[in-house]
Amino acid sequence: MIRFGRTLLSFKRFSFIGGVLSLATMLVVGGCGAARTGRTVVPITMDPATLTAPADSRALTTHDAAVRGIAGMLVKDLGLPVPGQVTVYVYSNRRVFEQGLIEDANVSPVRAGELADFAIGIGRRRQLLFNDEAYETRGREWLRLVAHELAHVSQIELAAGEGRAEQWMAEGMAEWVAFTVLERLGLDTLPQRRTLARAGIRSHAALVAARLDLETLGTPRGFTVRHLREGSLPTYQLAFLMSDYLIARDGLPKMVEYFRLFGSRQNRFENFRRAFGQTLGEFEKEILAHLKTVTR
Ligand SMILES: [Zn+2]
Repeated sequence: MIRFGRTLLSFKRFSFIGGVLSLATMLVVGGCGAARTGRTVVPITMDPATLTAPADSRALTTHDAAVRGIAGMLVKDLGLPVPGQVTVYVYSNRRVFEQGLIEDANVSPVRAGELADFAIGIGRRRQLLFNDEAYETRGREWLRLVAHELAHVSQIELAAGEGRAEQWMAEGMAEWVAFTVLERLGLDTLPQRRTLARAGIRSHAALVAARLDLETLGTPRGFTVRHLREGSLPTYQLAFLMSDYLIARDGLPKMVEYFRLFGSRQNRFENFRRAFGQTLGEFEKEILAHLKTVTR
């Protein structure tokens, strides 16, 4: 998903009720037959054979175009899978977003309330849900949000389920994918985002204490607790830098392989060791030493 202001997390299922009014964007009649105002549903079919990576961002001004274009970049440029169909839900404010999380994404009411307070986008299994009130323009940060959430959709396809892999890696890779997409669209650069992230985590509690506690940061709940306690932006910056380091060291295909391992086995510690050739504890020591050097 991505959080208010800057960052995100993730989520599933379809409750697709109602009638199609037009091809691209349609209003769906929900619940007891009453129209749900402030909610737009955009079903998108993506055939990998016809997806193309756009040269720039000029045409990416609607959810349909942005999702297709970014999916093309994920598939063609990064070798990431996307499902043949995703449904995009766009909500006009926090209240209908919360309601949508419950009714469209099957999130429990308590969790939906919590999520709607801090998230502006959620990627679930073949679903993207957005609180659109945060975006007045379809510019860079909006594209970043769409790319981040679509990266989660891809991870969920790879792992054949949600919330299975290390949560910090799911978030960090989603950030890495989003920044890479922006870079290829000529809107930002990875070195720039690295510099910002390194400056952002310099005084981060976990780094100062020299204890990242990846075991906690690796679960969806633990990650949420940490970013609420230690600040959302630095927690996502930390996740980005750790994933960026792993991708630079072992390559994106290794990370893809890691997510894929969850399709057949659920042990996150064992899967980490199998994919990256070291234990999570060994990686924690290595990345802590690296982060201390680059943030000095
Ligand atoms: Zn996220």
